[in-house]
Amino acid sequence: MDRVILIKYGELTTKKGNRKLFIKTLYFNILKKLKDFDVNIFKDMSRMYIEFNSEDLDIILKKIGEIFGIHSFLIAYKTNSDISSIKNTIKEVLSSNIDLEDLSTFKVETKRSDKNFPIDSLKCNHVFGGYILENFPNLKVDVHKPKNLIHIEIRKDYSYVYLNEYKGLGGYPVGTLGKGMLMLSGGIDSPVAGYLAIKRGIKLDLVYFEAIPHTSLEAREKVIRLAKKLAIYGGKMRLIIVPFTKLQEAIYKNVDGNYSITIMRRMMYRIMEKLTLRFKSLVIVNGESIGQVASQTLTSMRVINNVTNMPIIRPVACFDKLEIIDISKKIGTYDISILPYEDCCTVFVPRHPIINPNLKHCEELESKFAYENLIEEILANLKVITINEEVENKYEDIL
Ligand code: ATP
Ligand code: MG
Repeated sequence: MDRVILIKYGELTTKKGNRKLFIKTLYFNILKKLKDFDVNIFKDMSRMYIEFNSEDLDIILKKIGEIFGIHSFLIAYKTNSDISSIKNTIKEVLSSNIDLEDLSTFKVETKRSDKNFPIDSLKCNHVFGGYILENFPNLKVDVHKPKNLIHIEIRKDYSYVYLNEYKGLGGYPVGTLGKGMLMLSGGIDSPVAGYLAIKRGIKLDLVYFEAIPHTSLEAREKVIRLAKKLAIYGGKMRLIIVPFTKLQEAIYKNVDGNYSITIMRRMMYRIMEKLTLRFKSLVIVNGESIGQVASQTLTSMRVINNVTNMPIIRPVACFDKLEIIDISKKIGTYDISILPYEDCCTVFVPRHPIINPNLKHCEELESKFAYENLIEEILANLKVITINEEVENKYEDIL
């Protein structure tokens, strides 16, 4: 039997003006995701259709379940657009998909986009419903809560019959909303923040602040593993490794303990701003969550944020930790995040980080050392790693 995977678009259908771009981007995202499979993909303004080899079906369905911009998808049985072909297909679909010994219920739902088809949708429901009742005596009609909803889509060239839909991830196709840079640490929050930003169609590059030898190469490996998980949803991305050691040491030498985290985070934002300009990103994304630690009180966030005008998106700002953990388990980052390697933020944590920092005081503290030079040096020594969903890792220095 001729089967195709039918894809129904997500929220993009409401964005009339951008619809073409959304569909095109989704199309290329699906092509990339399925590049290792022998598939043909067709698109129109309301649906996409994927022809596939039967032996690949399960893995292809899994991969489609990882693509943003898809509302739902299903396996549709393709047939000619005439009443007797549709009837034959219904018979085959029911015979091969439901247990006919069971006393069960059904409802037919017809969508007729070919207005030249001789009977309208309501009449189709009756005709095909009647056919099912005649041929499958165990099945009864239930229009309210049917166990089997039999969809029939009548189009000009072909028609489709299908039973169940799988829920897609929703969101916008990655890339349709432009580029952002995620501050990716080894913690639980930032990968979840990244996932949620990707869901809104943002194409991400990733930034990891590293303080070797205070942090280990294992900590970097952990971040790379998290990045690969994000690449399942966000496609190929760059991971920029920021050599933060000297600046961090300078902070701890020059800044009194309580303010060190505040100043360190102001430095991170200063660097992030420069990186967004260099890598042509529109926003910074991070995993800050209100109240979680001293640097994430509202006063702290305001004082830290003061160094940049770049928009900063904090997808998990208002989530409880448990809500964040739930998502991290769902996207497969949790088990990696809880591995015990230290982060540059945790190695130097003061005993009593300030929760109500004063902006003037920050500026005074910063005026005591030449951090600008250190930032320049950092920017001249970035490492960029290309992250793919699979194994491939290419090291290359930025010129
Ligand atoms: P946790 O899940 O333990 O809270 P975290 O990654 O959220 O870990 P925080 O100290 O809460 O760590 O930092 C807040 C945010 O700042 C992070 O979510 C991340 O976006 C960013 N950040 C912190 N440390 C780094 C780092 N070393 N490199 C890049 N971004 C970082
Ligand atoms: Mg956190």
